[in-house]
Amino acid sequence: MAGELIMIVEDNERNLKLLRDVLGVYGYRTVEARSGEEAVVLAREERPQLVLMDIQLPGMDGVSALRELRGSPQSSATPVVAVTAFAMKEDRERCLAAGFDAYLEKPVNVRELRSCVESYLGAGATGTQL
Ligand code: MN
Repeated sequence: MAGELIMIVEDNERNLKLLRDVLGVYGYRTVEARSGEEAVVLAREERPQLVLMDIQLPGMDGVSALRELRGSPQSSATPVVAVTAFAMKEDRERCLAAGFDAYLEKPVNVRELRSCVESYLGAGATGTQL
């Protein structure tokens, strides 16, 4: 499938840029939110097919934003992947227990990112290998 829309929720500009650039090279379209509140609104407006969610965000954190998305009929079935800098091994379990579909650790490994995204959306429009 071509041009699938991914919402990136990330308050750190460098991390945001990395995700945007890599996903763009693969041929996915992206929209960006810099807070949990913005993510909830944007999900309603843009209907992304996948969400990459930072956990530590200003205001509403990623776990609360996930809850909001799950509570809305428009986004209740949308896969949401936690992207977190937490280093503890319990954090993966914590994220999955919170209801995230998957978990990516920062710094993001582009191969892992790609295989994770492809598992939900199929290959991006360009099929470019990085
Ligand atoms: Mn953050």
